[in-house]
Amino acid sequence: MTTNIILLGPPGAGKGTQARRLVEERDLVQLSTGDMLREARTSGTEMGKVVAEVMDKGQLVTDEIVIGLIREKLEDTKAAGFIFDGFPRTLRQADALEDLLSGMGQKIDAVIEMQVDDGALVDRVSGRYTCGNCGEVYHDTTRPSAKEGVCDVCGSTDLRRRADDNAESLKTRLLEYYKKTSPLIGYYYAKQKLRPVDALAEIGKVGHEIAGILGQPVEA
Ligand code: ADP
Ligand code: ZN
Repeated sequence: MTTNIILLGPPGAGKGTQARRLVEERDLVQLSTGDMLREARTSGTEMGKVVAEVMDKGQLVTDEIVIGLIREKLEDTKAAGFIFDGFPRTLRQADALEDLLSGMGQKIDAVIEMQVDDGALVDRVSGRYTCGNCGEVYHDTTRPSAKEGVCDVCGSTDLRRRADDNAESLKTRLLEYYKKTSPLIGYYYAKQKLRPVDALAEIGKVGHEIAGILGQPVEA
């Protein structure tokens, strides 16, 4: 049996952090369009250049581009299931995902709605840094690396802050979220897939709540 999960929530809700935990606990593959797009922008292609500009402003990249990226990954990857992190972000993307999965004889099992209040997001996003090597996510006050400048997980010293993790870009990202992504809450509610969790709790507790929704991990 496959399990396909969507993590839905505003920037800074903790989607990436929880996706990484789920990958570790279950035999699932994380599909983060944010990560794919950050990879595309370092590729030096024309598409990469367009993507970089749009992302840094905090706007959404076009549906064509992100749906194309997801389609490629779904075709190329064998997995017991997928965690969609940062996708879908528009109703068009949601419809496209449903078509892609049904073409593979699959469906979305649960949409985890990560609820936070907007006040917390500024702090979360502006304190965030990640490991450029393994992708571990840290935060200046709530989850600093044990040794400053060194990744706990892989020992890399390549700890980075994202160009779009600043107050100005966050404003645009939030607006994009409310205008284009939050309608997905109603969409998945109507499809009886929506499972809200309190994403303001600490990381382990949120993970616990998600595990409770998904049931016991399947033995690998
Ligand atoms: P966050 O959720 O913390 O804002 P992400 O890493 O998911 O960060 O996304 C960063 C940026 O990448 C977004 O602001 C947007 O420009 C672009 N992006 C990521 N996923 C999508 C998507 N599904 N559709 C359109 N743009 C996307
Ligand atoms: Zn690392």
